[in-house]
Amino acid sequence: MNAAGLRRDLLRWYGRAKRDLPWRKNTDPYRVWVSEIMLQQTTVAAVTPKYEAFLRRFPTLVALAASDEDEVLKHWAGLGYYTRARNLRRAALSVVADHGGDFPSEFEPVLALPGVGRYTAGAILSIAFQKPFPLVDGNVIRVFSRLFGLKGRAKDPRFVGTMWPLAEKLMPKTNPGDWNQALMELGATMCTPDSPSCGACPVAAHCVAFKKGLQDMLPLPEAARKPVPVKWTCLWIEKDEKVLLWRRSEKERLLKNLWGLPEAGRLAAAAGRRLASASHSITHHAMTVELREAVLDAGTPPPEAKWVPRGEVRAHLVSSLWLKLLAFTEL
Ligand code: SF4
Repeated sequence: MNAAGLRRDLLRWYGRAKRDLPWRKNTDPYRVWVSEIMLQQTTVAAVTPKYEAFLRRFPTLVALAASDEDEVLKHWAGLGYYTRARNLRRAALSVVADHGGDFPSEFEPVLALPGVGRYTAGAILSIAFQKPFPLVDGNVIRVFSRLFGLKGRAKDPRFVGTMWPLAEKLMPKTNPGDWNQALMELGATMCTPDSPSCGACPVAAHCVAFKKGLQDMLPLPEAARKPVPVKWTCLWIEKDEKVLLWRRSEKERLLKNLWGLPEAGRLAAAAGRRLASASHSITHHAMTVELREAVLDAGTPPPEAKWVPRGEVRAHLVSSLWLKLLAFTEL
């Protein structure tokens, strides 16, 4: 492997071809951290319009720490995986309490923050602090597998384990942040999962898969995971211009800790005609949800429920599942 040539070619390409993304405007640790958390399991296209709006509402880490959780969730709406938003706020509180509000610049304290794993710690430290910590994610695994002709499945922990030493070995002495971003950029724009653009690739001269015609075979395909069907019936209970919402608990399998419409069977209510239905996917769960009009039986609703004025319902229901179901009403 000509590591020096590979670094030179990839960094040159990154310098001239990198996308103009909002989180690349500067390397402020707070901005880098927010972008890295948003980009976990979410595409650049989905994050781009949300990122600046989130930073306008929470311009500093201290402002985020001072906010309440529902407010943060509201501004996370549409990005999914809401645990990330809760962890972001918890981490901000911990930076204020333990580091006086200054984002830590050492590996262990960054890794100790809620929601930060080895990948995210490497991204923050290399991009915001120019420290030579590598990162490995699905993009990097795919790029390394093809570049070096390594046969393995991208989700196999043993295969992933072999990637970290490789990433450390390749890390240049200068510009670690650019190097890590260049690898990611290559994976996102050139060395894509289904149709790698080898003809335009800046590192094709170094690529084993390209030389051997193995691009479409590496990394090895994953065993397909069957979707798990989930069926819900939810209730639309309205009285005096208010709608009954339900706070889902920490123990729920899906949409934990979020406001939703009550599921049938959770409270005493007679379900009537069907108002709407929707299909929705959350991770590997294939959901079919129907919404029925219902009337609450006499008595006080359970503590998880609360009456919310019609005009505030949308602000409570952050998951796009509910937005699909609410299409039936004029909320
Ligand atoms: Fe990926 Fe093709 Fe470039 Fe190799 S030559 S790194 S397979 S895009």
